[in-house]
Amino acid sequence: MDRVLLLNATFEPLRLVSLRRAVLLLIEQRAEPVLIDDEEPVIMHSPSMSISIPSVVRLTTYVRVPRQAFTPPVSRRGVLARDNYRCAYCGNHADTIDHVVPRSRGGAHTWTNVVAACKKHNHDKGNRLLEELGWELRITPEAPFGLLWRIPSDSVLQPGWSPFLRLNAA
Ligand SMILES: [Zn+2]
Repeated sequence: MDRVLLLNATFEPLRLVSLRRAVLLLIEQRAEPVLIDDEEPVIMHSPSMSISIPSVVRLTTYVRVPRQAFTPPVSRRGVLARDNYRCAYCGNHADTIDHVVPRSRGGAHTWTNVVAACKKHNHDKGNRLLEELGWELRITPEAPFGLLWRIPSDSVLQPGWSPFLRLNAA
């Protein structure tokens, strides 16, 4: 374990913090332990004390987080994952992303304008608008929300975290 899951006072997951950061929060009484792995507790020693580090801590005071802070940047991988690797036009396997309103026509690189698309539809669509093609989106693209989207992909997720992550796992 090299990261601790930090929850808001409402138990909403906020982010992963380093062990050191978690210990500081506990010592300063700005956070309290929620979950300690009894079988393999992680102990941090200092000259004056030993402290077992919980794998989940919770802030004692609620912090307000703007929803925008939870929105990850648009990425190819993120769009494909959000759309379950399904083409927004036909539902077949997708491994490309498409700007619904093409960038050349003023379309933005935003979660609401980017969808997963199969190679065929991406190619056939070109720089045209849906109205010009008579196509419809099978989905309504939205920005994903939730901590899972902001956890670096190489992070090791602790099994004990899952009940907390599911709270707003987008
Ligand atoms: Zn398709």
